[in-house]
Order: sequence, then C-alpha cells, then structure tokens
Amino acid sequence: TVTDPRKVVVVVPFLDEEESLPVLCDRLRGVLEKEPEDFELLLVDDGSRDGSAAWAAACAEREPRVKLLSLSRNFGHQLAITAGMDHADGDAVVIMDADLQDPPEVVPELLRSWREGHEVVYAVRTSRRGESWAKRLLAATFYKTFRRMASVDVPLDAGDFRLVDRQVIDALKQVRELHRFVRGLTCWVGFSQSAIHY
Ligand code: UDP
Ligand code: MG
Repeated sequence: TVTDPRKVVVVVPFLDEEESLPVLCDRLRGVLEKEPEDFELLLVDDGSRDGSAAWAAACAEREPRVKLLSLSRNFGHQLAITAGMDHADGDAVVIMDADLQDPPEVVPELLRSWREGHEVVYAVRTSRRGESWAKRLLAATFYKTFRRMASVDVPLDAGDFRLVDRQVIDALKQVRELHRFVRGLTCWVGFSQSAIHY
C-alpha cells in the first residue's frame, strides 16, 4: 500500500527580521525540497514594525507552502514559538530562529534522527563563534545555575533549534505554563531525545 508522505512544519518566530527572513526562507526551501517529507513554513510575526511582516504576508499569498501567523502584539520569543507549535499540523515540527543563527542545512540531520525514531532532536552548537564574551559568560552562568536548581537536564549550548515529534507537540499543549522556557519543557516531557552537533 502507498502511504502519504509525512509532513514537517518549520516554525519561525520573527521580530523585525526583514534582512534575514527572505534569505532563511530561500535556504530552507532549497534544503527541504530534497527531503521525502512534505513541508510547510509557518512564519510567526511577533509584532514586527519593519518590513518583515509585509514580506511574509506577500510570500504566504504567493506560496502555498508558506503560512503566516500574526500575533496581535509583541509577546516575546517563547510565546511566539508556542503559538507556532499550537498551530502547526505537521507530523514533526522544527523550531528555528529567523536571524540565520540556526543554519537550515542542519535540518536534514534532524530529520534523519527523527526517522530513526527519536521524538525530540535538538541541535547543539560545538562553538559559539560570533557571540560576544558577555553573552557566552551569561549563557554559561545561566545554564550552570539552572541545572543546579531544576530537576530537568537541559543540554548546554542548545537553543530552541530542534525537531519535535507530533506526540511531543500534543503533550506540550497540555502544559499550561504561561512563563515558558520551551527548550526546558521539551526535555521535561520525556520521550526519546537525541542531539545533533553542528
Ligand atoms: N524574536 C521574537 N520575538 C521577540 C524577540 C525575538 O519572535 O520578542 C525572534 C527573533 O526575530 C529571532 C528569534 O526570536 O528569530 C531569537 O531572537 P534573538 O536572535 O534576539 O535571540 P538570541 O539569538 O539572542 O537568543
Ligand atoms: Mg539570535
């Protein structure tokens, strides 16, 4: 029997990213067209004031595989991701930033690990080149403190860039935390987790 291909939705929250968003969408399309799954880009406008919202609206109008979700104001990165996950209807959802800090070329590797049966596949940076020493120090201090205080194991040097299976998305919808730390919650819900280093 022939089964329909599975669908992957890439959720991209953005705030004032008119320079990078078109570049990201182009690169994502190039990468995803080579994969066997169907795909959709779900762009989440978190109250942008530059030209990015208009660009995204035009793109969604033109391309059936691009969707735009517009928030009524700026709610912040974590709630923009949450809104995207709530609206994504994929068998898997990939979360990535719009500012090109998360390279689209890593997505095929996330998909590979998902096909092998992992339900959360997070992307771990092997270096933080391009980030200031202040940001690195802040991040290192934050994760050290967080790991000491919380009973959940959150990997170091992983952002929100990750693939999440439908089952995990459904589980996260039942988590009614308002002040959300999505990368922590995706670890906390359980399931089979794996890491891709880049
Ligand atoms: N972003 C958002 N809402 C905000 C702030 C940021 O949707 O209020 C988006 C931003 O456009 C980017 C991602 O969230 O795609 C991560 O933001 P940023 O690059 O500022 O965070 P950092 O890389 O410092 O973690
Ligand atoms: Mg960034």
